[in-house]
Amino acid sequence: GVVIDGLHKAYGENEVLKGIDMRVEPGEVVCLIGASGSGKSTLLRCVNRLEDPNRGMITVGGHEATHPDVNLDAMRREIGMVFQQFNLFPHLSMLENCTITPRRVLKQSRSAAEQEAMAQLKRVGLEEFAQRRPEQLSGGQQQRVAIARALTMRPKLMLFDEPTSALDPETVGDVLAIMRDLAQGGMTMLVVTHEMGFAREVADRVVFMDRGRVVEEGPAAQVISEPQQPRTQDFLRRVL
Ligand code: ATP
Ligand code: MG
Repeated sequence: GVVIDGLHKAYGENEVLKGIDMRVEPGEVVCLIGASGSGKSTLLRCVNRLEDPNRGMITVGGHEATHPDVNLDAMRREIGMVFQQFNLFPHLSMLENCTITPRRVLKQSRSAAEQEAMAQLKRVGLEEFAQRRPEQLSGGQQQRVAIARALTMRPKLMLFDEPTSALDPETVGDVLAIMRDLAQGGMTMLVVTHEMGFAREVADRVVFMDRGRVVEEGPAAQVISEPQQPRTQDFLRRVL
């Protein structure tokens, strides 16, 4: 799981995270919602230390992510991240996109890496596309490959940052279905999303952030259907 304690992050004078406390228990799915600029992406990026927090403590699994001597490579191996933009290598096939990191980082043999990659491509329903390049797939299919690629590293935690925001509406459902399967399989997930239907159905908890603070959190149905805080009510009125 993840434990975040008193997290502060500023860019120059702009304090973006103003003391965040948050937990994701092992096997739990937490959806993070909030207006643009509230600090959701920054928070996710602090968890795998793509950003350096100014203050506070984060632990991921056994690793204290904010410890000065943390082994970042070892920690990041256990964290899969999926972004709004899929960031697939355009010149590589889907199979190669899924094998490059296990081969380089985990030193897997080609055959072991390919076997695992094919299993993950199958899981997202795209094993027939293994030899294609990204430009030959729809956005939704590319995002499914990006998820498969993350899973080849056998992460203990998956971070999603608006994984369906850049997709054509008709492909969103396929990506959400894979995320739902992953959740049902027991993956620990922290998901930034504007898909309230998904949050309601799949999340164990929903956390609402506003201007760098957690304003409200609770069971998904409660936060989405009966928000207590005026700022949460405002936000939901605008997105629902
Ligand atoms: P969105 O819903 O639009 O993705 P968000 O909640 O993910 O928004 P962040 O991307 O975390 O918000 O940004 C929070 C604030 O931090 C914004 O005011 C943004 O301009 C600022 N910010 C983010 N990244 C940087 C950076 N690298 N340098 C300077 N300021 C940044
Ligand atoms: Mg963001």
